[in-house]
Amino acid sequence: MSARLDEKLDLIYRDILQRNPGEDEFHQAVHEVLETLGPVMSRYPDFVDKKIIQRICEPERQIIFRVPWQDDKGEVHINRAFRVEFNSALGPYKGGMRFHPSVYLGIIKFLGFEQIFKNALTNMPIGGGKGGSDFDPKGKSDAEVMRFCQSLMTELYRHLGEYTDVPAGDIGVGQREIGYLFGQYKRITNRYESGVFTGKGLDWGGSRARKEATGYGAVYFVDEMLKARKDKIDGKTMVVSGSGNVAIYAIEKATQLGAKVIACSDSGGIIVDEEGIDVALLKRIKEVERRRISAYVEERTKATYTEGGNIWSVPCQIALPCATQNELNGKDAKQLVENGLVAVAEGANMPTTPEGMRIFDEAGIAFGPGKAANAGGVATSALEMQQNASRDTWTFKHTEGRLHEIMIEIHKAAYETADEFGSPGNYVVGANTAGFLKVARAMDAMGLV
Ligand code: NDP
Repeated sequence: MSARLDEKLDLIYRDILQRNPGEDEFHQAVHEVLETLGPVMSRYPDFVDKKIIQRICEPERQIIFRVPWQDDKGEVHINRAFRVEFNSALGPYKGGMRFHPSVYLGIIKFLGFEQIFKNALTNMPIGGGKGGSDFDPKGKSDAEVMRFCQSLMTELYRHLGEYTDVPAGDIGVGQREIGYLFGQYKRITNRYESGVFTGKGLDWGGSRARKEATGYGAVYFVDEMLKARKDKIDGKTMVVSGSGNVAIYAIEKATQLGAKVIACSDSGGIIVDEEGIDVALLKRIKEVERRRISAYVEERTKATYTEGGNIWSVPCQIALPCATQNELNGKDAKQLVENGLVAVAEGANMPTTPEGMRIFDEAGIAFGPGKAANAGGVATSALEMQQNASRDTWTFKHTEGRLHEIMIEIHKAAYETADEFGSPGNYVVGANTAGFLKVARAMDAMGLV
């Protein structure tokens, strides 16, 4: 782990390690928040006495269940699924579902924990939760994905509700999966409860700009960080890891704002296109044809594909990790800094290792942590819930405008809070502290529940 914790926080952390063995990503996420909370505890000793931190670190409810399903050949498979309902002080549990073979309780808990503070930062009435399964959608037919989703929802539905728990997408869960999950929820409950799921299709209760929101929001966050340093995105070279939902729309917005995005990736390799990534082509390959990123160079012959390459070795001024946790380590950070990096925004959740964060901090890089930089997705999910509650649909322009305002506000809150707590320019301190204080105050007001 990175920085040392103060004595009281260290005791709390040790207890968390002991009570949650083997959950490495959860430990990492908790440590990263506790590292920044020393000044808050000194200023609010009441929160220490009331054990607010210990309460925040313990999920309100954890659901683990079996998901049996049959493939197209009739073979039976058993997956494991999770829903961690972490904190409902600010609203119903809210957070995506992840389908990836690496999923286990420690990953869902780290994501759910982060989600509490991220959702608080959006200033929307949403609590924190997360779910998922070790199911791998790669290489499965639509019918197999549908049967899996229906089986999963046959158990999960009883824990959901627009005032209780509202899932959305994440890695491996896009509009196709949300359609199958929502369809089964509707069938079992006999209720057209639009607000129980976000990330829906535009024809059936979805919000315009939701698909774009996380990637666009991350770029708006970079824009704000650079403006605060009297700099701008226009003319900068950028590298974006991943080529999924977040990555595609980060590339699109960055290109609109005048940056040149020269590389992106998937788990198989990286593409470099010095002329700038062709977003329309990328969308066709990934969203329509559901192919691997290597297909890009078949049509853009000047671009290169490197199997298993390291995207962070490509020189750039702005780096946007948009794939997965711990994808950018200390060595990568060092190389990026040496190559002239000025800013990083985490489109993914916890993509930078503690060592990577330390190197960026020491080098004075503008660093936007995921809790702040990728909060545009969940904020727009809350806008989707608003539209569903009022049975309204907003225009793209209006929704994107709201997203932009929210990202400006999140940046402002993180920036000003960092300043107030003695770490000017440190968005990790600012985002953790601002998010924590909002949740802690609400929990305190509601008594010991
Ligand atoms: P997608 O499934 O759409 O895309 C994920 C991308 O990351 C793919 O290109 C995938 O490559 C790559 N990737 C995933 N796992 C790995 C891995 N272990 N190693 C290397 N590459 C990997 O997911 P999203 O774009 O929705 O999510 C990306 C990140 O953003 C996640 O951390 C998620 O939690 C976070 N996030 C997403 C939000 C959203 O609104 N969707 C909101 C906030 C955060 P491949 O196809 O080869 O697996």
